[in-house]
Amino acid sequence: DLADTGSLQVRNVSKLFGTFRAVNNISLDIQKGEFLTLLGPSGSGKTTLLMMIAGFLDISEGDIALDGSSIAQTPAEKRNFGMVFQGYALFPHMSVRDNIGYALSVRKRPTSEIRARVDEMLELVQLQDFADRKPGQLSGGQQQRVALARALCFAPPVLLLDEPLGALDKKLRVEVQEQLKDIHRRVGTTFIYVTHDQEEALSMSDRIVIMRDGAIEQIGTPQELYEQPVNQFTASFLGKSN
Ligand code: ADP
Repeated sequence: DLADTGSLQVRNVSKLFGTFRAVNNISLDIQKGEFLTLLGPSGSGKTTLLMMIAGFLDISEGDIALDGSSIAQTPAEKRNFGMVFQGYALFPHMSVRDNIGYALSVRKRPTSEIRARVDEMLELVQLQDFADRKPGQLSGGQQQRVALARALCFAPPVLLLDEPLGALDKKLRVEVQEQLKDIHRRVGTTFIYVTHDQEEALSMSDRIVIMRDGAIEQIGTPQELYEQPVNQFTASFLGKSN
């Protein structure tokens, strides 16, 4: 049940590539249902941390737990986290409906169950009228929503999003931000969102983690970060000059 799952505990986690610490001793508690954004300049370790949470990268030091139980040894496919990355990687030959239901059909769920669940997802992302189209017949924003519906279809405890709006133009980005925020509110899934775009972070997040050189510089709500930056780096990163 989604209501009971989705908190993450990151404990003194590091990632070493050789002797280089891409992520350096990060500890972080993520609440279930939270929209948490990892914000920082290119190379600050955001994707590396996300990949360790996803299970695509082993952690070098420390531990990561889901609802209090370590998942450090759990392979990515057993973690069952949803993922939305830039580029979406939709299946071009499949309809929107089949793209969204893909994970459920791989899990051999009954056809009637898949159909009902995909209908729910189509409604969630407002693509009811596009179920039979192929991804190539959709706009960039619509494709992005198919990717989101596909990732949420199997009710993951956590959804990981890595710069999902990076390929969209500015105007569309703002529109999709609104939709994403609305969808988060409706599903109640824990969202962990990686971006270098401060505006995206400020407009959507419950809390923002500002990263620099593999470490956490500051954590807080958008308002806290904006009004009380701890230092010049944080301040300038949020677009404030003092
Ligand atoms: P961000 O997502 O914030 O842009 P990354 O997590 O991608 O940052 O990278 C953090 C640092 O780790 C960068 O300096 C990057 O060059 C380095 N890095 C990432 N992946 C590898 C790898 N597989 N091998 C060596 N260095 C890596």
